[in-house]
Order: sequence, then structure tokens, then C-alpha cells
Amino acid sequence: MPPTPMMQQYHEAKQAAGDALLLFRMGDFYELFHEDAKTAARVLGLSLTSRDKGENPIPMAGFPYHQLDGYLAKIIAAGFRGAVCEQVEDPRQAKGLVKRDITRIVSRGTVTDDALLDPQTSNFLLAVAPGEPCGLAWIDISTGRFEATVVPSEKLGDELARISPVEILLGESADSLPAEWTEGRMISRRPAWAFGREAAVAALMKHFGTQSLEGFGFSQDDEGPALQAAGAVLDYLVETQKTSLAHIDRLLPYGVGTRLEIDEATRRSLEISQTMRDGRREGSLLGVIDRTVTSMGARLLGDWLANPLTDVQAIDARLDAVAELHAETSLTADLRQSLRQIYDVQRLLARVTTGRATPRDLSFVARTLACIPKLKAKLAGRKSARLSQLEGRIDLCGDVRSKLDAALEDECPLASRDGGFIRAGYHAELDEQRELMRGGKQWMAEYQAEAVERTGIANIKVGFNKVFGYYLEVTHAHRDKIPEDFIRKQTLKNAERYITPELKEHEEKVLAAEERCQDLEYELFVELRGLVAVAARRLQATAEALAEIDVLASLAELARARSYVRPRVVAESVLEIEGGRHPVLDITGTEGTFVPNDTSCEARLASRGDAAVQSAILLITGPNMAGKSTYIRQVALISLLGQIGSFVPAARATLGVVDRIFARVGASDDLARGRSTFMVEMTETARILNTATERSLVILDEIGRGTSTYDGLSLAWAVVEHLHDHVGCRTLFATHYHELTDLEDSLDGVGNLNVAVKEWQGEVVFLHQIVPGAADKSYGIHVAQLAGVPREVNERAMEILAQLEAQHEQGGTEEVRRQKSEDGERKLRVDTGEPVGNGQHLQMTLFETVDHPLLEEIRKTDLNTKSPLEVQRLVEQWQQQLAGDAVSSRPR
Ligand code: ADP
Repeated sequence: MPPTPMMQQYHEAKQAAGDALLLFRMGDFYELFHEDAKTAARVLGLSLTSRDKGENPIPMAGFPYHQLDGYLAKIIAAGFRGAVCEQVEDPRQAKGLVKRDITRIVSRGTVTDDALLDPQTSNFLLAVAPGEPCGLAWIDISTGRFEATVVPSEKLGDELARISPVEILLGESADSLPAEWTEGRMISRRPAWAFGREAAVAALMKHFGTQSLEGFGFSQDDEGPALQAAGAVLDYLVETQKTSLAHIDRLLPYGVGTRLEIDEATRRSLEISQTMRDGRREGSLLGVIDRTVTSMGARLLGDWLANPLTDVQAIDARLDAVAELHAETSLTADLRQSLRQIYDVQRLLARVTTGRATPRDLSFVARTLACIPKLKAKLAGRKSARLSQLEGRIDLCGDVRSKLDAALEDECPLASRDGGFIRAGYHAELDEQRELMRGGKQWMAEYQAEAVERTGIANIKVGFNKVFGYYLEVTHAHRDKIPEDFIRKQTLKNAERYITPELKEHEEKVLAAEERCQDLEYELFVELRGLVAVAARRLQATAEALAEIDVLASLAELARARSYVRPRVVAESVLEIEGGRHPVLDITGTEGTFVPNDTSCEARLASRGDAAVQSAILLITGPNMAGKSTYIRQVALISLLGQIGSFVPAARATLGVVDRIFARVGASDDLARGRSTFMVEMTETARILNTATERSLVILDEIGRGTSTYDGLSLAWAVVEHLHDHVGCRTLFATHYHELTDLEDSLDGVGNLNVAVKEWQGEVVFLHQIVPGAADKSYGIHVAQLAGVPREVNERAMEILAQLEAQHEQGGTEEVRRQKSEDGERKLRVDTGEPVGNGQHLQMTLFETVDHPLLEEIRKTDLNTKSPLEVQRLVEQWQQQLAGDAVSSRPR
């Protein structure tokens, strides 16, 4: 049997929808058919029915039209795309089959509806164009922010972590990205031509209406791949949005290198915008410092924290603004109060320009505009340059405001076609039609009263439904009293419905007026929406200024509430913190229990011939749970906060601008990602050693832990030496290898710190206080006790420890030697049982002892059976043997 015309229409639409689930509008429902219906039944929990029951039933599932948002949310959350196919003509006016078209294809990266978006987070769609360097372009279509850049492919993972897109576009034959980069993100494959250079440039120029892209700061030769990626993004949006994309009015070049670089592992490890354990915003640095009161501000703060500055002047400009707001408490409180009343103008505007705004959206624009004059006035005459600039950027858009205020009711509905949102007095014809409609209704009420009187049926009433229009309803009990001119139309269980010629005549008038009102209101709505769209640029600039004021005020409020201080941000590579606190623990821990600590560190600049700096590398030793990790992280987080222009949790701070922050945690549990933990640790360490500069800040936490003690210690040792000799950057290294603390004696840029611990009545008390010098004990067993390891086990461990310590005191021959070879390179060797060499050497502790074979021979020699001459010969022999070993153990 050939498909019905409607199913044919369905198949055509399905073809165009590709792999998206096609939501096919039929009357008041969206229906899915065939495989889509089965998928929908599975992932959306819809019940599966069938159409054309009989020989070839078609699987079908559906939901009422007003639940579209909810189901779209479920569809994209399940990793699918949804194609919305609407009836594009009025069924009442359609001749034959109603025309239907796909009006948009929605995926995670292309949503604009508030219901489908997290207000606090940008929603980026990103494309990767192949090449070396590769091209990246990303857009938040809900706000129109569109950026592009080129990056060396080895930095792609870091950039993905920084931008954190929800959907990634890749060429159909491009290699897949590593799973850990794409976790939780949707991947959409696009045809290869969508990434073509010429097509991309042409499409971008057409979209922006420009002759070249150089005006945006892109050169086709250098940034070709960036433009290809941007072209692919645009092509995808044109295909899926099927509407004006006028709010995307520029492509911004993202300057890699002008911001503090933070790689993916560091971002994760420092928990900057999400926690490591469950990837949530709450509990991350962003989560605890965010005091913004608007969603636009929350998103901007996230953006600042993902991209801290490196330019001292720019940082100072922000700090000046925060300082002024911090000093003017009541002004800041007032500003925040006003900001609380504004809406998410950025996202409202995106809906306005894409033609998806509702009357309510427009009324929110109006309400926001109503709040701005007061806000702007408060900002007038501010001292800091940044606040004055922002004040200048706020455009009151009085023209738009007066029009919207005059036109829109205070409370507006979501639907734009049902009317009921234009104020009386705004439009003469609308008022007239409304009068007619109201008059008609008045007439109905009178007609009902008249009918009651005429028939003597007290409960007769006039009602309305879509099928029969207006009717008179009479219960069966009064059926015999019905006059002759009543025409029966419908029988219900308890009542009968009738019409009369007069009723019909008035019905027509009322319905015509009602329809005219709705049409008129819709026309007026479209006109108002157009008016806002025309002002989009001014409104967008205003929205950006408001978002920034919110962020600056939020930082001022944070500083006030948590007693943060303004850091002195300088170009020199120094780091001086007095009374520093960990910004997250300081807030989430019990109030007043956090122990503040100082830090003093200065890069050892090879370029400055700086040999004398004592504190480029700080080694922090101390027992587990003492607070080492907390301390080194707090230093990194304080630097980061300083570079976004925030005050910092300290009593005083001088922060030398950092170009990159590296944070590595030894062998963190990365099993979930399916990589050997030690391999990860070493790959990441290699990266630091290869890319850190003298202006970087390196935070190492228990590096070398993921392997055996020998390996681990040797690696940690060599890492410190390399950083010291070849990089010289500010480094904080927390370690439980006490042996490393000996480095302080041999390397002039290394300083030891430890975390103070008090032993009291056999118990260990952690003071969390960082003090100079190396720790003497590791207290692991005490920690085990705290953790609830059974007492017998602890006691036995104490015994073993005592034995090991006693053995160790007898001395071993296990040696770790650091030698300076002839060419001046330092080499670290861990020898097991070989004789001691002639170079400078260090005694390593904690290793199990292995005797030198000579010792055994000496022990066994029975002097009573030897003559003095024999003894002399033996000693000579031993000396020769030792000398020979010494030669053979020289560095090669
Ligand atoms: P380590 O790295 O030495 O094993 P952590 O830095 O993980 O120790 O700290 C262990 C616990 O001690 C933390 O969870 C925190 O609750 C507490 N702590 C650390 N530093 C401080 C501090 N300065 N003040 C108060 N509590 C702290």
C-alpha cells in the first residue's frame, strides 16, 4: 500500500532531519514514527502505539505540543538531536494537506530556550578544523559570542578544557578525539566540505556583510584553520536554526598567549570551575567566590576565571574598580539591589533576533530597561577608569523602553498568537475590535438571561467549544421545555446542547473580532520584536556592561565578606603572601579554624644572572594530612584570583604576574579514565619540564609517588634539579620524601618548609602551620590510627618501625650519589650495593640496608689464625679492591 500523502510528507521531512529525532506536529501533538518512535519510547519514556493498524502498522509515539520544551530537554540530555517539524500554515486555511516544515534542529550546542539552558554557564558549540596548527571556533548561540583561534594540536585538549563546549563539530573523516577530552560533550560529524577554506571565508563574509575578515583581526594565511572552523560553525547554525542569526554580528580572534595559560590537568586539579569528584560548580573555586546576582554576571565571572589576565595594567584596572566598590559599601549594596531586578538580556536578545522571543521576553527587556537609569546614575562620577567606562557603555535605550512600556501589559504570556498582552489605548483598531468582542460577549450574557426567562429553565447556560462554537446547554430534566427554534447539536450524558440562528449570527461577529484581535496583537508583537532587534547592538553592549558591573561588585562583596585584601600585582617574578588562606577551605570549613600561612618565593632568573635567590623552589615536607596540598594549592589559587583582578584571601600579598600555572598531583586516581596513573603523572611532569618558563608557577604534589620508592625519589630529585637549573620558576613541591630536603644544602635556590606537628601524650596534633626547615618524621602510623586502623595493626607497625630505625642507625651501604660529572652536568644515580664512589655524595635514609661484599669478608676474617704480615696483605688487597671499584663507578 503506498504511503498516505501525510506519511509521504513525513518521510521527506525525516530525510531532511538526518539523524535527528523528527518531532512531527499533528494538531495538538508532536508525533514520532518508525525507529524514532522506538527510540523515543526508550529514552523519553513515551508509550509506543501504532498508526495504520492492520497489515503494516507504523510504530508511533507522541506528546502534547505544550510539552515540547520538556521533551526537547530530555532529547538533548540523552545525547540526541531533535528536529521540530511544524505546521507552517493555518489548518483552517489550508487547502488539502497542511504544509509542514522543519523550523529548527535542536542539539546541546544550539539551544536558545531558557528552559533548556543553565543560566550560570555559557553554552558553547565548538568546531575543530584539521591542520597544524588546528583551527578552533566556538559560539554561544544563546548570546551570540563567537570566537576563533589557531592552536598547536598538542594544546587542543587544554583549549577544550578551557572553553568547555557542550557540543563539538568534527569533519566526517577526522580522527576521533581522545575520550577524556570529549567526556560529557556531544560530538556531531559534519561533511568535510563544511570545513573548506574558501567556502568558509565566503560564508563568513556573506553573513557579516564584509569584504574581508581582516577587519575582525584575522588573516587568511595565518588564521586559515580558525576561519575554516568558524565557517563550519556557521554552516551548522544555518542548517539547524533556519532563522535569522543577526545577533551573531562579529567573530572575535582569541589571542592565545595574552592570557594566563592553564592546562587541562591543572584546571582539573585546582578545581577552578568544577570539583574533581563530581564535576559540579558548587565546591569549586568559582562556586565559592561567585557572589554575582545576575546570570550574565555568573557567566562572565566563569569566563574571567577560565581566562585570567597577564597584563599588569589590565589587572590593575579591574582591581581599581573592585577597590572603589569595596570602599563604597552602600553604593555596592545599592548597585547589587538594582542588578537583582534585571533579566538575562543577552539570552533574551538572542531569542529576539532569531525570532523566537515571546511577549513575556519583550516585557522582560522592558523591565530591565526600567531598572537601568537608576543604576547608571549611581555609577556617574566614579573614580576608577573601568567603572566610568562601563557607565558610559550603558545605553538607556529610551526609545525602545518608551515603546515597550506603552505597548505591553505588565504581565505578558508566553504565547504570541493568542493575544492578551497589548495594553488598551496603544492601538486604535485593536481597541475597537476588543470592544466588539466584549460587546458580543455582553450580548451572550443577556441572551442567556432572556432564554431563562422565556423557557422558565433556570439553569440554561451559554457555553463555547471549538467544534460547535457558542451553544445553549439544557439538562435532560428540562428537555420538554425546549422551544422550537432551538436546534439540537450535541447530546451529553446529562445535558443537551442547542444553537439558535441568533446565537450563530452573534457568534460570527465575536469570533471574527477575536480572531482579528489576535492577528492584530501578533502583528504588533512582531513589530515590537523588530524594534528590539534593531536596537540589539546597543542592548548587547549595555548587557555586557551590566554583567561586568555585577562581577566587579561581586568581587567587592566577596572581599568585604571574607576580609580579602587588594594584592599588589607586579611584573617581577616574585610571590609574597602574608597570612594566606585557601579560598575554598576558608569558606567551606568551620568558620575561624583555617590556619593562615605565609609564602615567599622568587624566580631565579637565568636571564638576570640570578644565582643568589634562596627561594625559587620551596620543598614542603610533613606528615600526611598536615596540610601540604592545601598550602601549595592556596598559593596557586591566590595567584589566579589576583590575575582575574580579585582581592585575595591574605593579610598582604605581592603577586608577580604568572604566565602559566602548572599543578600536578602524584598518581591521582585516574583509573576511571583508563590510563596508567604513573604514566599520566610522568606525561604531565614531562610537559611541565618542557614548557614551564621562568615566569611560570609550578605546584607539584607528591610527584613520583606512583612508582617504587627508588624510582619515585630519583625522579622527584631529578625534577627538582631540572627546575632549579634550567627553568628557575617559582615552584612549590610537597613531598613525603624527606631525603629531598638535603637538596637545600646543594642547590642554592631551594628552601625547605615543613608543616608543624605537635606530639602530645602519644597523639599527633596537626597545627597546619608552615614553618622553615625540613620535617623530621612522617607520622604515617599516627595518621593510620586517626583513620581507624585497628590498634593491633598500629602497635605492630610501631614495632616494625622501631626495628627498621634501629637497623638504619647501624648504617647501610646503600648510597644515592649525586655527582658532578666532568662536563658539569649533575647526575643522580641510585646504586644498590656497589662500593662508594669518589665524588660528592649524600646518604639517603629510609632505604633497606644491603651490605657491601667486603664487609662480609672482613667480618668473617679470623684474626687469630693470621700472622701480622698476612693481615697487612689482606688490608692492602681490600684497599686495591676499593680503589678499583671507585674507578669503575665514576660517571661515564
Ligand atoms: P597533606 O597534603 O599534607 O596530606 P592536606 O593539605 O590534604 O594534607 O590537608 C589535610 C586536611 O587538613 C585538609 O582536609 C584540611 O581540612 C586540613 N587543613 C589543611 N590545611 C589547613 C589549614 N591551614 N588550616 C586548617 N585546616 C587545614
